[in-house]
Amino acid sequence: MPLADRVECPICRGLGCAMPGRLLFRLPVYAIYGCEACGVRFADPQSDNAIVYDDRFIHRIGKYLASSQFGFLDHRAFDFIGSLRQKRILDVGCGTGRFLESVRADNEVFGIEISESFRPYLERAGIGHAIGPLEQTLAAIPDHSWDLICLWDVFEHLCDPVATLQQLRVKLSPNGVIVNWTNNYDDLISRTSGLSYRLTGGRVHQLIDQSFHYHGGHNFNFTTRTLDRIYAQGHFRLVARVITDTPADRFDLSAAMILLLKIFYLGNRLLGKGKIVADVIRLQDSPG
Ligand SMILES: [Zn+2]
Repeated sequence: MPLADRVECPICRGLGCAMPGRLLFRLPVYAIYGCEACGVRFADPQSDNAIVYDDRFIHRIGKYLASSQFGFLDHRAFDFIGSLRQKRILDVGCGTGRFLESVRADNEVFGIEISESFRPYLERAGIGHAIGPLEQTLAAIPDHSWDLICLWDVFEHLCDPVATLQQLRVKLSPNGVIVNWTNNYDDLISRTSGLSYRLTGGRVHQLIDQSFHYHGGHNFNFTTRTLDRIYAQGHFRLVARVITDTPADRFDLSAAMILLLKIFYLGNRLLGKGKIVADVIRLQDSPG
């Protein structure tokens, strides 16, 4: 079936923009669209993360899952995570439960996950969890009671980030915050990948494919501008933001690839950019 040049944007849907999604990259299996109104990039068709995260894939990215973003976050912005005591913490897309393990000694923790393949890890770790479609697992947990909700590497995997944020609104305690660690395509890696596609008329598509990371379950790529719009649309406000890169040694890559990544990361740092944006947000009308 031929791909449409123009489609509705899953983020702007309902905001009165007529088909702002423009076809940017035509790749094997899927296409990447960019929204001219909000700037988000999104995949069509969407990937199903319950299927992507099978035993084999989880094994392959074991090194990444065994570490945690929390361990190297910029502590000027995220010190409060390290000092959490007697809080209720919900990890959405908790994976193996690595983050919750690191904070459960002092807090009440719970994880939700879409992939059945994570169940044995969570059971072994003894972490309270629910597995199933996000809307259902979220609907089943108590409202207005979570002091910290974490979305580590999750926002870009969602089917409908705007709807999920709306669902999370009612889960937060009055002073609760959400940490949203997601990808940022306004960086050197994504820009170079896009350029390699354009300069070769689409023949070199592997780099943009890897950068978007559809096969790792990504349905969206954001920028800070896109995220700000989504937060405002959901009546959230930004409390802190860090632009950074995932340390190269968390990936199971060849020495040559790690060197290449480090060169890109150096370029990102010099330009004040990064492949990751980590935000703390809270409700606009929260007292904190
Ligand atoms: Zn849009």
